[in-house]
Amino acid sequence: MNRLSLAAALFGASISLASAAAVKPVATDVFPPAPEAPAAPAPAAIGTPNTPALAPKPALSPKTAVSPKLVEPHLHILRSGIKGQARVALTFDACMGKADERILSVLVSERIPATIFVTARWLKYNPQALQVFLANPDLFELENHGKNHIPAVDKPALIYGIAAAGSPEAVHQEVQGGADAMLAAGITAPHWFRGSTAKYDLSAIAQIRAMGYRIAGYSLNGDGGSLLGAAVTEKRISGARDGDVVISHINQPTHAAGEGVAKAILDLKSKGTQFVRLQHVEDTGDDQTTE
Ligand SMILES: [Zn+2]
Repeated sequence: MNRLSLAAALFGASISLASAAAVKPVATDVFPPAPEAPAAPAPAAIGTPNTPALAPKPALSPKTAVSPKLVEPHLHILRSGIKGQARVALTFDACMGKADERILSVLVSERIPATIFVTARWLKYNPQALQVFLANPDLFELENHGKNHIPAVDKPALIYGIAAAGSPEAVHQEVQGGADAMLAAGITAPHWFRGSTAKYDLSAIAQIRAMGYRIAGYSLNGDGGSLLGAAVTEKRISGARDGDVVISHINQPTHAAGEGVAKAILDLKSKGTQFVRLQHVEDTGDDQTTE
């Protein structure tokens, strides 16, 4: 997908987010892309029942909040270079909510390797899906999506209506809390981190890398934060090219997007795609995410 069509697609998704966000902002998963800096604080987005209690949350006010420069890093994996055998990394975020059995069952039955980014919150409420992941170590690489699904930005900001961590201490708490929950759940120590909304500021990226993590960007937004329809989601993911890192969601079983994700996995398999996990391939990124 070229930049122009990506921008158009993202813009379309941002419109659907705008209406969705007006109803229930915190339930939104990830980056239904907002083309501009975070909008003015939406009080309803803070302190709703779905919002976790945070330790350090600096006050946000229009007078004091300075929007940090946010980046949304790209990530590509080494291409296979073999025609008809595109190498693709499927990555799924499990932000909060439940497990999407439509996707999970296809991954398992078709023996498709994937990288799953889990939060402590999601792990807590999905022990059965966790057991499926752990029972198939040849398929699933589990990585860190944070403790409470709070954007890993070390300055006060609202991203898609979600309050960012807001300080280095809170970023550390979000990252470390995610890892701690994974270890407590019997998962191998994570090596990759992807923050809520997949947006960061550069100082947070440096901090997270100093904690030993690699930052998991992506190159293909498969499901528009799980807000896209089934058909468009299928089309996007089925169009994955050699070297693509696809991001989509495995935590929204009631959304149409998941149906498209499941179909696209079958599409890609039928095309001879080599599915790889992030831990098994060389990669290149931007926004100071790689050496
Ligand atoms: Zn997420």
